[in-house]
Amino acid sequence: MRFSVLASSSKGNATVICGGNTRLLVDTGISALRIRKGLSECGLSIKQIQAVLFTHEHTDHVCGLGQLAKKEPLSIYCTRYMGQELRPIAENAVYTYIEPGSAVQIGDIRVTPFSVSHDATDPVGYLFECNGKKLGYVTDTGKVPRGMTELLQGVDALYLESNYDPDMLRNSGRPFYLIERIASNFGHLSNEQACEFVRSVAHGGLQHIVLAHLSQDCNTPQKAFNCMQQTLRELQLPTNLHCAPAATRLPWIQIA
Ligand SMILES: [Zn+2]
Ligand SMILES: [Zn+2]
Repeated sequence: MRFSVLASSSKGNATVICGGNTRLLVDTGISALRIRKGLSECGLSIKQIQAVLFTHEHTDHVCGLGQLAKKEPLSIYCTRYMGQELRPIAENAVYTYIEPGSAVQIGDIRVTPFSVSHDATDPVGYLFECNGKKLGYVTDTGKVPRGMTELLQGVDALYLESNYDPDMLRNSGRPFYLIERIASNFGHLSNEQACEFVRSVAHGGLQHIVLAHLSQDCNTPQKAFNCMQQTLRELQLPTNLHCAPAATRLPWIQIA
């Protein structure tokens, strides 16, 4: 299995995941043009994507969908309630509803969605499995939801939100309600919360961590990276650490 992050930040998110002969796109939160360009950099086209999965319906996860669906017959996987939000945007797509906790097989990849804690309609994270390898996909959650730690034990790679630095958030000059929302149980994971979660699932076989969904105003790649690197040092793990860039593609990460 391998994956490439086409973009990730509070302003837009999309990731392509390949396993066996199956190619999935997770979220379409950048323009259709950027998605096509990113896929092309991966040596792929949208026609080669078997299914598009969504974590939730916020703009930074769906904004390219309308344009993309206009030109291509998409196969969309999402929860039923999320589907109600997506259908008006992509009427022509074929929808398959998934349920948190119930695994589905999409081609060669087994996909298990799980509930996360975020102020959206039925938001989920994912566990992807192919040929005995596991990738955990966690974004947009204000806390570590019940069951996620158990489900993601033993993952070989982790795509993990590391959204904000608490000091930068407090001093951001943003309205108080917005600061409260981001830091709440239904907002986003801070750098420290991401590290705390890694402590709970860390093991010698954890090959890669990709820090994702960094806030461009309340975090810096350096702060997020340093925080996690310190945690990995303390755990004495040789895990490769990556920070997903907001504006450019993170090249393929191969899960060995
Ligand atoms: Zn969100
Ligand atoms: Zn988001």
